[in-house]
Amino acid sequence: MKLYNSLSHKVEEFVPNEAGKVAMYTCGPTVYHFAHIGNLRSYIMEDVLEKYLRFVGYDVKRVMNITDVGHLTSDGDTGDDKMLKGAKREHKTVMEIAEFYTKAFFDDCAKLNIKTPDAVEPATHCIDEFIRVISSLIEKGYAYEAGGNIYFDTSRLDKYYVFGDFNEDDLEVGVRDGVEEDGNKRNKADFVLWFTKSKFDDQELKWESPWGLGYPGWHIECSCISMKHLGEHLDIHCGGIDNQFPHHTNEIAQSEAFLGHKWCNYWFHVHHLNTTGGKMSKSKGEFLTVSLLEEKGYDPIVYRFFCLQSHYRKSLVFDWENLDNAKQAFDKLVTRTAALIAEKDAAGVDKEAFDRIKTGFTAAMDDDINTSNAVTALYDVFKADTNAATKLALIDDYDKVLSLGITEKAEAYIRSQEDAQSDIPEEVLELVEQRKAARKDKNFALADELRDRISELGYVIRETRQGTEISRK
Ligand code: AMP
Ligand code: ZN
Repeated sequence: MKLYNSLSHKVEEFVPNEAGKVAMYTCGPTVYHFAHIGNLRSYIMEDVLEKYLRFVGYDVKRVMNITDVGHLTSDGDTGDDKMLKGAKREHKTVMEIAEFYTKAFFDDCAKLNIKTPDAVEPATHCIDEFIRVISSLIEKGYAYEAGGNIYFDTSRLDKYYVFGDFNEDDLEVGVRDGVEEDGNKRNKADFVLWFTKSKFDDQELKWESPWGLGYPGWHIECSCISMKHLGEHLDIHCGGIDNQFPHHTNEIAQSEAFLGHKWCNYWFHVHHLNTTGGKMSKSKGEFLTVSLLEEKGYDPIVYRFFCLQSHYRKSLVFDWENLDNAKQAFDKLVTRTAALIAEKDAAGVDKEAFDRIKTGFTAAMDDDINTSNAVTALYDVFKADTNAATKLALIDDYDKVLSLGITEKAEAYIRSQEDAQSDIPEEVLELVEQRKAARKDKNFALADELRDRISELGYVIRETRQGTEISRK
């Protein structure tokens, strides 16, 4: 299996540290507001990666943090503490806000068939870990105290800009929270590990530490939570592309300084979902959520399908027309699957055909999780030269990774059709049968006349791949 590695800028063969096992870490959400569908694009694509690793037989352990300490996040906000801002907006404590939005996040994930990671750890549960690692960094000479805060000394590293794409000018981005733009730092790139002094004087959550009452920086969270659950060697670290710098750059700096060896081998970055108006951001106040999709009548899975149609390393533009196109394509997928269910006879799965056709899907996924081609491979199943049972088995198999719930939706569709039929008067059903016979005999004049009589009784009929659909006018 090949994966693009942001560290090497190359597509590489994936080889885990320990044969058969994968230690995987994902930067979790900042829980001061609902996740927007851009955030969820990242989580959907990471979910697909995790499920594909399991699909090919790896024993995966995946860990995610929850950023519930008040501080900046990745989406370009400048200004105040976001958690605190959320709490003020809603007249709640920071902890109440965090709890509420953590639950909301996992509810959204469930609606998108995103599996909950094996371990989920809120940053506020790990303060002792942070203090232990920061103390060690100070002892090793990688961190220093200045003006009350503890900073990581980036000049101690052989290489700080490990992803390569950044330079000092990009630090304008790195200092976007304002607090790190202070005169106490030894080097422009240094970042805070522990705050005791910040412009957030009313920061609600503070903890005792050897350096005084304060709170941890954002980057230290992920290093510590990852090491706590996954040990000293990480196979894959995931996140949105905006996390590459400064967040992941700083995670690598402090983790490798602490460990004294390489920490994570593969970095998987999902590119952004944008709107036609530009970048989607929580802090802009207005953003698209799963609830909004539902309010507008979309099944959230249609959004998952929309994401899968594109490769994770391409930015994706969201607009309602694109989503409508995805909805139409997805509905068709479901009704075509319903037709296969109806067509299925006593013939069982043809193992040889199954294995042969499946290679189309695995080839796509092995090629740097090319979900766009994997969706094409899914369409190819309908055209394949094999029986319905084999096709259905293939759809179910691919869906272990794609998680679109195709068969369940097709079964629900069949049930809804049956329910709709059960309310139809005998007289109408009789005419429909007569019309079917007329069509079979190619007596189209009679078929049209019968359609009119059905219409006079208040019903319309439509020919679909599944047969004749009858509904009230
Ligand atoms: P946050 O809650 O802001 O820390 O972001 C959660 C995740 O969403 C991170 O992995 C971000 O990199 C990612 N992310 C933020 N904005 C977008 C976007 N527009 N498209 C895709 N991923 C995003
Ligand atoms: Zn992180």
